[in-house]
Amino acid sequence: MEKYDYLVVGSGLFGATFAYEAAKRGKRVKVIEKRDHIAGNIYTHEVDGIQVHQYGAHIFHTSNKEVWDYIQQFAEFNRYTNSPIANYNGEIYNLPFNMNTFNKLWGVQTPSEAVAEIEQQKQKAHISDNPKNLEEQAISLIGTDIYEKLIKGYTEKQWGKKATELPSFIIRRLPVRLTYDNNYFNDKYQGIPIGGYTQIVKKMLENKLIDVEINTDFFDKKNDYIKNFPKVIFTGMIDQFFDYQLGELEYRSLRFETDELDVNNYQGNAVVNYTDAKTPYTRVIEHKHFEFGKGKEGKTVITREYPANWSRGDEPYYPMNDSKNNELYKKYKDLAQNVPSVIFGGRLGQYRYYDMHQVIHAALTTVTQEFEK
Ligand SMILES: Cc1cc2nc3c(=O)[nH]c(=O)nc-3n(C[C@H](O)[C@H](O)[C@H](O)COP(=O)(O)OP(=O)(O)OC[C@H]3O[C@@H](n4cnc5c(N)ncnc54)[C@H](O)[C@@H]3O)c2cc1C
Repeated sequence: MEKYDYLVVGSGLFGATFAYEAAKRGKRVKVIEKRDHIAGNIYTHEVDGIQVHQYGAHIFHTSNKEVWDYIQQFAEFNRYTNSPIANYNGEIYNLPFNMNTFNKLWGVQTPSEAVAEIEQQKQKAHISDNPKNLEEQAISLIGTDIYEKLIKGYTEKQWGKKATELPSFIIRRLPVRLTYDNNYFNDKYQGIPIGGYTQIVKKMLENKLIDVEINTDFFDKKNDYIKNFPKVIFTGMIDQFFDYQLGELEYRSLRFETDELDVNNYQGNAVVNYTDAKTPYTRVIEHKHFEFGKGKEGKTVITREYPANWSRGDEPYYPMNDSKNNELYKKYKDLAQNVPSVIFGGRLGQYRYYDMHQVIHAALTTVTQEFEK
């Protein structure tokens, strides 16, 4: 076997950032990936000149200048600003909740009128100071109209449970924006890489010191890998690594349904959330709008996103970071101390809902710990 310094399991953003930085320091790295392509969940591919986000809408946003400068090495970003809209039984509202939303709901024109309306609805609902569930919590924060039209159906679909059965802590805050500003994120920097995300990971992995093998599952030869590589960066599921010996961590999954359509412009926006209870999907993405309509004339690609329960073997898209699962994760983390030659990283290895900027930050922190100790 060739001599490698590191085995990186998973070619997502965490694994790729680590591999790139290790190779830059002269280390030999092997990357294995169980899917048939690199880039993990940020994978995009081209259809009719349109970059399709295969695993759901990915919008890069951060207030961390170091991370923003870092990612610019690998792609040029456009000035896309996420301004999703909500479709509630055919009524269209702007998100996040802002003066455009309030004007459409109640005809109010000024911030003080909006605040007065919300306060009146909160009082009318007679919620105690100690909301018992997500429904009470949401109404106590934002009143009944916004809850009924923009939160209830969407949240129930997302979690597969009634809002009255969901814990209140899921919604700690519901930011109300008292300006006519539809920009979803408050971050300083935001955009979409022109030409998609896959190029970023491809560039990260193109150093000659890095070998990449796709269609290769770590668990097919776990013991050999651990024996033969001095150090392993593992970005798969931490509970699976330990053979679920302390029990299973829980995840939410998703199902994506993608269609190529012979129309130029299907919904006029990249992201439309369906907030009613009867539409089975939560979002429809029209990919060409991430790059301002770039793509073949008369063609578009849309993806419907359906929330799904997770069971072993399904794609674990979202860690369920409630107290029960976080406790179990802590126990796995303790077990990980017994295998110092393995570093657990990323969304699945650290069982944490990371956005892209956070995963880059986490990978760069691991790089610092590994090479500057
Ligand atoms: C629907 C959705 C929408 C999102 N939207 C945004 C957004 O708008 N903005 C944002 O900043 N972030 C978003 N994210 C988060 C973003 O996808 C993650 O931050 C990022 O992809 C995490 O990178 P990672 O390397 O930790 O994990 P992953 O991308 O999951 O990479 C892990 C890789 O490891 C591979 N792997 C796992 N087990 C094994 C094994 N046993 N053997 C070999 N390979 C293995 C997997 O196949 C995968 O390729 C979104 C996530 C989802 C699911």
